[in-house]
Amino acid sequence: MDEHIDDLSSPNPQGRLYDVAVAGGGAAGLAAAVTLARSLRSVVVIDAGRQRNLPAHSAHNVLGREGIAPAELIRAGRAEAESYGVRFVDDAVVEAARVPDGFALTLGSGTPVRARRLLLATGLVDELPNIAGLAECWGTTVLHCPYCHGWEVRGQRITVIASGPMAEHQALLFGRLSDRVTVVVHGAVLDDAARERLALMGIAVIDGPVEAVLADGSDVRAVVVGGVAHEADAVVVGPRMHARAEIFEMLGGTVSRHPLGTYVDADPTGRTAVDGVWAAGNVRDLSAMVGAASAAGVLAGAALNVDLLDADVAVAQSASVAGLAESRFGGTGTLDGRPDDSSKASRVSAKTTNND
Ligand SMILES: Cc1cc2nc3c(=O)[nH]c(=O)nc-3n(C[C@H](O)[C@H](O)[C@H](O)COP(=O)(O)OP(=O)(O)OC[C@H]3O[C@@H](n4cnc5c(N)ncnc54)[C@H](O)[C@@H]3O)c2cc1C
Repeated sequence: MDEHIDDLSSPNPQGRLYDVAVAGGGAAGLAAAVTLARSLRSVVVIDAGRQRNLPAHSAHNVLGREGIAPAELIRAGRAEAESYGVRFVDDAVVEAARVPDGFALTLGSGTPVRARRLLLATGLVDELPNIAGLAECWGTTVLHCPYCHGWEVRGQRITVIASGPMAEHQALLFGRLSDRVTVVVHGAVLDDAARERLALMGIAVIDGPVEAVLADGSDVRAVVVGGVAHEADAVVVGPRMHARAEIFEMLGGTVSRHPLGTYVDADPTGRTAVDGVWAAGNVRDLSAMVGAASAAGVLAGAALNVDLLDADVAVAQSASVAGLAESRFGGTGTLDGRPDDSSKASRVSAKTTNND
């Protein structure tokens, strides 16, 4: 049996210590896993299987795979990672704790997983305006991103539901793709200057709120305002975006606030303020599309590899110093002559850390 499977299914808490555990198997997590595994790092990806764009039929601006079905992209990325020895577990990380050699995770099934480093690639949750009929069409004819699906609705009747700070921006961008764009104000503040800019670009504004979205299956038919059904082929919304940051918080991290939601702050390589924890993709960058999420995963993977390497070098150095002391003083003293047993501890540490 595959040694990885043994380790994951074993209740033995002394099971395999992976170099990196990746929470989340979307574009960011998969790209990081490939990068790490190609440097011969041992990697386990735990994925709950709710990639953000799964409701959409196709993914766009994905170079070389333009228009691919989101699930197919994930399948292909997973197969690539598996070909380098990455271990996948279809489950969710429900608990995380720091332990002396890294992190101890518990999965929904109760399975323990241990790793020296942790990459959060858990994505975000889109919180849609609470309007009847909206959620059923999310990702097909209820849209948020002109780059993801604007081309597909070019020239059509598009209604922008203005509920957040990006509404004018969205309306202007969709206005480039169709001359039949209408804004319905639904909680957002659209001042006179904004209304004038929209009018100049040929975009009508109706004061809401929106009462309901009418649809045939997942095809939007109309938006109801003041009891009147305004026909529409597509609806644009600005969801609030909440990073899936529960694991980060369990490890002592604090989620950062953004005008559009929450995110996990990190440096450009993805290193967070919590030692040993990296973040990549939508969990740390609400605006990241598939390409950006995947690029962030590659960068975080490379940075994690360097961080692990630095740790390995430090352990080797301390083992070497301790070994020198042992050869000079028979293991009974340090280089400055003090009695010490750190040489033994260092050798044990080097052995347990170099777990591959
Ligand atoms: C409707 C829609 C359509 C879109 N279309 C496009 C498009 O055409 N082109 C484009 O470039 N971008 C598109 N996007 C954006 C795209 O979805 C994101 O850029 C991309 O999904 C981000 O990848 P990610 O890896 O950060 O997160 P995700 O792809 O969301 O992956 C995160 C994964 O982590 C898992 N997870 C979460 N918590 C845990 C946990 N505790 N344990 C284990 N696993 C966990 C989730 O289940 C999920 O599988 C679209 C977004 C939406 C909402």
